[in-house]
Amino acid sequence: MSEYQFPYKDARFLINDLLDFDRMCADAGLEEVNSELAFAVLEEAARLGSEVLAPLNKIGDKLGSRLEEDGVHQAAGFAEAYRQYVDNGWASLAADEEFGGQAMPRLLAASVVEIWDSSNVAFSLCPLLTTGAVEALAKHGSDELKNAYLPNMVSGEWTGSMCLTEPAAGSDLAAVSTKAVPEGEHYLINGQKIFITWGDHQMTDNIIHLVLARLPDAPAGVRGISLFLVPKFLLDENGQPGERNDAHCVGVEHKLGIHGSPTCSLNFGDNGDGAIGYLVGEPNKGLIAMFTMMNEARQGVGIQSLGVSERSYQQARAFAKERLQGTNSDGSRFPIIEFPDVRRMLMMMKAATEAMRGLIYIAAAETDREHAAANPEDARKHAARTGVYTPIVKGWISELSQEITYLGTQIHGGMGYVEETGSTQHYRDARIMTIYEGTTGIQGLDLVGRKILGDNGEALQELLDEIHATADDMSDVNGLSGMARALLKAVQSGREARAWLLEHASEDRNVAAAVSVNFMMMMGYLCGGWVMGRSALKAAEILDSGNGDQSFLNTKQMTAQFYFDHLLPRCNSCFATVKTGSKSTMALDIDQF
Ligand SMILES: Cc1cc2nc3c(=O)[nH]c(=O)nc-3n(C[C@H](O)[C@H](O)[C@H](O)COP(=O)(O)OP(=O)(O)OC[C@H]3O[C@@H](n4cnc5c(N)ncnc54)[C@H](O)[C@@H]3O)c2cc1C
Repeated sequence: MSEYQFPYKDARFLINDLLDFDRMCADAGLEEVNSELAFAVLEEAARLGSEVLAPLNKIGDKLGSRLEEDGVHQAAGFAEAYRQYVDNGWASLAADEEFGGQAMPRLLAASVVEIWDSSNVAFSLCPLLTTGAVEALAKHGSDELKNAYLPNMVSGEWTGSMCLTEPAAGSDLAAVSTKAVPEGEHYLINGQKIFITWGDHQMTDNIIHLVLARLPDAPAGVRGISLFLVPKFLLDENGQPGERNDAHCVGVEHKLGIHGSPTCSLNFGDNGDGAIGYLVGEPNKGLIAMFTMMNEARQGVGIQSLGVSERSYQQARAFAKERLQGTNSDGSRFPIIEFPDVRRMLMMMKAATEAMRGLIYIAAAETDREHAAANPEDARKHAARTGVYTPIVKGWISELSQEITYLGTQIHGGMGYVEETGSTQHYRDARIMTIYEGTTGIQGLDLVGRKILGDNGEALQELLDEIHATADDMSDVNGLSGMARALLKAVQSGREARAWLLEHASEDRNVAAAVSVNFMMMMGYLCGGWVMGRSALKAAEILDSGNGDQSFLNTKQMTAQFYFDHLLPRCNSCFATVKTGSKSTMALDIDQF
């Protein structure tokens, strides 16, 4: 398996040049934060990623985790790596200062998380879930809960888990049946949760589960779900983990990928009256609180999809430069990277990962802008834009990562199909990303339902206007007019698709749902075109000034051109399908399948 190297040049270009990090920090009043600090941080993260986490990636895949008498044991080396991660302060990077966080911008945090995800995505799931739990608790928990739990969760001394799924409640959380009965100051929790990522392990002294459950008098459906904090170990009078709570792992899944990440079945209340839990937020409003965590995790899955795609690309690139297959007229051999079709696959991988990275960074910067907004109206606007980005970042990028890791395997030929090269691990690891944190179908529904029909298409309209403005700017630049025309055409299709959706959604209840994934994918390819167009524009500006890394900037422009030639046209095919509505999709009776 090839070594991993963080793509500094691309990250630097996006953070400094495209998103003007220094100005962003100054506008947000973060006086001590600047790009110099950001790149020192990234260098340190890359060292931990490449030297410690990346070598454990294959070990985690081979060994997985195992359930023993005293709970789940993670793969060898993971606990020591986690200790380094915590001791070096990585867990608290973007958390608020109130509970010990370093309050670094989300943009920087997203870039750092890409490093963890490329290095070892199974490992990085553990901090991802803790970060989400911290967010949910900080936003919705009582002061008492926050003071008791957040400092140790922010520092990473304790990890968090997200307990939504039950055997009969997956995408449909209305079916959650775990029960919570009040008893004095706390609640007794009874039920089973399945598929809980890092739901048990031995890396920390405590694990803080955030659990969805129903109160005895709760109304049916999603309006009757509450959120509870259920620690693995109850805290003693000194606030330290003491008595074992009745929340136990009873099984660990054997699965296709991310073997290093234990996927646990957790039983609550098997050995007595119930596990002790504490209400987070208001009764029956648990889903709102959980959405804080889920939105964080959805963007996080987008970053995972990028991280694994980048790792797969790096490995395929190294292989393509080494593997000799062609024969020159003088009998000497040449590497497969010289074949046009291998070039096509590598360019596809490179262009797609760069577009993914750009969109993820833009979305992270939007969250920073929301946090730093000068007034509630501005904050609302940034939140609405983030709302549009989130399902695209999760849905489009995770879907695209399937194709990228597939290509990574394809470039290896037969060696891609055997475990020895490690290429299959990326392919297997990526597979979950379109499934957890809401399947692609759920992301499509979120985009068209809540985010577009929910505000009459206003937030999307603003995004389309911005893409249009980029295309206009590109039209005036020598060498970019062809790409500008293509982007204008794609954004026009985007406008027509939006109008089509607003017009037809009310005609038939199946229409919006049937077109939602194609709609979401269309917006993804369009946003990717926007990112690559903006990048080409910025590269032209820097090249014009005679500064910058000429080779990198030229490469960026050519990669953008490839995106426009090979990936942007997919907007049109998605749009053509959207316009067909639901008719052929829903034409057959169930027994005709
Ligand atoms: C490795 C792994 C880790 C996980 N980690 C966690 C975790 O930490 N915490 C946690 O709570 N859960 C976790 N999950 C559960 C995961 O979030 C669910 O598997 C996922 O949300 C899908 O739910 P489901 O499996 O019940 O599938 P279902 O909901 O049964 O979906 C089956 C199919 O039906 C489609 N579908 C369902 N409803 C709709 C709808 N309304 N509209 C359109 N299509 C629909 C889906 O898109 C899918 O294709 C994990 C799962 C796995 C495999």
